[in-house]
Parts: sequence; structure tokens; C-alpha cells
Amino acid sequence: MQEVRVRFAPSPTGYVHLGSLRTALYNYLFARHHNGRFILRVEDTDQARHTEGAVENLLATLEWAGLDYDEGPVIGGPHSPYFQSERRLIYARLANELIRRSGAYRCFCSTDRLEKLRAGQTARNEAQKYDGHCRNIDPAEAAQRARSESFVIRMKIPEDGETVVEDVIRGRVTFQNQLLDDQVLIKSDGYPTYHLANVVDDHRMRITHVIRGEEWLLSTPKHVLVYRYFGWQMPVFAHLPLLLNPDRSKLSKRQGDVAVEDYRAAGYLPDALVNFVALLGWNRGDDQEIFTRGELIESFSLERVGKAGAVFNREKLDWINGMYIRNMEEEAYCALALSGLQKAGLDAGDPGLNRRIVLAVWNGLNRFGEISMQAAPFFADRISAYSPDAEEWIKKETSMRVFKSLLGALKNVDNLDNEGFRAIMKQVQDESGVKGKDLWMPVRSALTGLTGGPELPVVIGILGKDKLIKFINQAMEV
Ligand code: GLU
Repeated sequence: MQEVRVRFAPSPTGYVHLGSLRTALYNYLFARHHNGRFILRVEDTDQARHTEGAVENLLATLEWAGLDYDEGPVIGGPHSPYFQSERRLIYARLANELIRRSGAYRCFCSTDRLEKLRAGQTARNEAQKYDGHCRNIDPAEAAQRARSESFVIRMKIPEDGETVVEDVIRGRVTFQNQLLDDQVLIKSDGYPTYHLANVVDDHRMRITHVIRGEEWLLSTPKHVLVYRYFGWQMPVFAHLPLLLNPDRSKLSKRQGDVAVEDYRAAGYLPDALVNFVALLGWNRGDDQEIFTRGELIESFSLERVGKAGAVFNREKLDWINGMYIRNMEEEAYCALALSGLQKAGLDAGDPGLNRRIVLAVWNGLNRFGEISMQAAPFFADRISAYSPDAEEWIKKETSMRVFKSLLGALKNVDNLDNEGFRAIMKQVQDESGVKGKDLWMPVRSALTGLTGGPELPVVIGILGKDKLIKFINQAMEV
């Protein structure tokens, strides 16, 4: 069987969109599943969109996500991707070849003429499309003019008929040629456009499967024609469903965080984000949602990628991330959690105590970014804010009795270990006649400001008696 070769071909824009991470991941999983090759190709031929540091950021993000690629132009240098900006001569040569094959032509139209053309089409409510003005200039004459005049190279779309794209996810998609534009392949600055460079490289890099976002589907008939003009073998196309906001609009930068870097900074674990992103458009056919990398590689297939847009659900991401945090090795967890504390400016002044604190909040964390909130009571003399449901418990009629009785019981006690605390609570229960949730929840709410979180005996062990009394008094004032 032919070796599977896939590529991730981003244009570096400065940040990595979640959708790009998904494209990279699916290509990576597909390659690993088939023991194939995963190629990284940086599509950086658009000089106008060049952003400083974008490539470094892209590489760092892929590395963080653990998506290692196999191949680059440097022999023995697997960690350098291909850069299209270094391959300009190849595209220029092939554009000329396409002219010889009558699949493309030089166009000398001025910007001024094109603008007028476009304005007219807009005024008449027509689709914007080049009118073929230079299509029939004799090639020899055009070559002559090209020595002194500025020009672009456009592809020649057949005037009628249709072009069919076979897509493993979307099926057979038919395009009327009349509606396709004579796409610019080489710009007047000599740089290729995406359409030419992308197809040429996919061919030269022997890409077997083109797996990319649905937004490229409309360009694909043009690519199909370029393959045909050259007589090249076509790859398999797979266009991945759009990513949507919960209101089903397209996931965009305006509506929230779409940059992978933001999730990294917010303290999400790379494996958790990857697990979550894997499920944006793919499932295994059962309801398993937590997958190791190995399981993803083993189960991934294009057949199980859906057509329907995939809704981005932040709560689900948090839930998955929480699962990964709870599954960490203790040392790895402590290292990240302690650095989270430090970033939040929290320090108990005693490494042992800091460690007890992060261990105490371990079970309740969905993100490392939450640690400052969960650990706050251990560092402050007051609860700075109660969550709405915590406040409700505190205000409950029976809670005052619980607090009073607890304060009374604490007077004669020094031992606040697990046993000691349970004995006190038993005493409070007998005295106040309040039990179960009505007994425990107000106390938890008073001591942490939250209704979830670490076990109470653990909280109390760290807080100590003085703070315990302070927090109960504070709650009684609510
Ligand atoms: N450079 C395109 C991008 O930025 C590549 C699309 C494709 O994979 O063909 O996504």
C-alpha cells in the first residue's frame, strides 16, 4: 500500500486558532494511525500578512500540544518545517509550465481597470469575477509584453461545464465552472498565491490526503483543475466541519478565546486541550470522551468525522481538563499547582504548608487558573466573596444555630484533627438539632466561600482554630 503522507499547512498569522489546532491534530492522528508521515509546511508567501514572531509562536504551540512532525527540507533535521517563501523558484517555473499547457495566462490589467470592473459588478448585483479581458492575448505577444509591463498569472477556468470534488467527508460536491473566477496564481510581486503554491507543494511532497477546514472547500475545484492541467494524481480530500459557538455562529475571535495560546496561558493542560479538540467533529462511535494519545491514534478515522458543524463547549473543556488534573502524578501536579500559587502572589511562607494547600484543593480544580480562588481562604483573614449558593446556605434560618453552637463547642477544644473535628460537629448536631447538609453546607460555605472544594477536615487542619473562629464570625454577620 502507498505510504500515507499528510501535511499541516498553516499561514502564520501570529496566533494559532483552535480550528488550526484541530486540523493539525487530525492530520497528526491520521498519519500516526497509518504509520505515515506528518509534514509541517509553513505557507508564508503572503508578504502583506507577515507578522514578526508568528512562526516561532506556531512551532512553540505545536510542540506544547505534542504534535511532532516528521520531515523538513534539511536532511537529518526533522525539526525544521518547509517554508514556501524559500520555494518561489519552483512555483514560478510551474506557473510558466501551466501557461505552456494553456491552463494559465498573463494578465496585464491595471488595478484601476479591475477596480472599475468590480464596482460595476457590485452595482449590477453580480458576483465579482475577472472578465477574461487578457485571456485571449496571443501567448507570444504576452511573453513579449511581460518584459516591460507589470502582470499577474491567472488560471484559465473552462467557460462551461462543471468540476467535481470528491470529498471523503462531504461526498461528491459539484461546482459550475461559470461561477469560478480566473484565479490569480502568481501576483505582480512574483509571489505565488495560496492556490498555486499549495497544490504544487502537495504534489511535490507526495501528499496522499488533504485534510483541512471546510472554509477551503470552495477553493478545491480550482485545485482540482490545476491537478488536471498538469496531469498529476489527485490526493484524497477531506474537509473538516466548521467550529461553532454555542449559538451556532462561526467560532470567531470576537466572541471569546479562540487562540490556543490563551488556553495555554489560562492553565489548561495540553493533553486535555488535545483530547477536547479531538472531539470537535470526531467521535469513536461510542460515548467515550476521555482518550489517551495512544487511544486517539488507534481509533481515529476520517470515516467517523461528521459533516455537521462542531459546537465549542467551554464547560466540557473544563470538565475534561479537571479529569486530567485529577489523574496527574502527585509531583507533576504539585509543581504546576505551586507555580500557579506563585503566579497568583500567594505564599504561606512555608513550603510544607503551600504543599498541603495545593493538595487540599486538588480535587476541585478544573484549571490551574482557578487555584487563586480555591486557595484564597488559606491566605486571607476574611472571605473576600461568597459564591451565590454559599451565601444562600449561610443565610438559611438554621445556619445561625449551627454557627453559634460551633463557636461554643470550639472554646474547650484544642484538637482539630479529623477525629477531633468530627466529634465537635457531632456535638453541634446534638445541640442544634440540625443535621446532614443543613449542618455541613453552611460550615463549608463559611470557611471557603464556596459550596464545593476540599474536604472540611482538611480545610480546618490548614486553617487552624483562630481563623476558623474568624470565618464563622464573619458568616454570622452576613
Ligand atoms: N495556508 C492555508 C491555511 O492557512 C492552508 C489550507 C490548506 O490546508 O490547504 O490554512
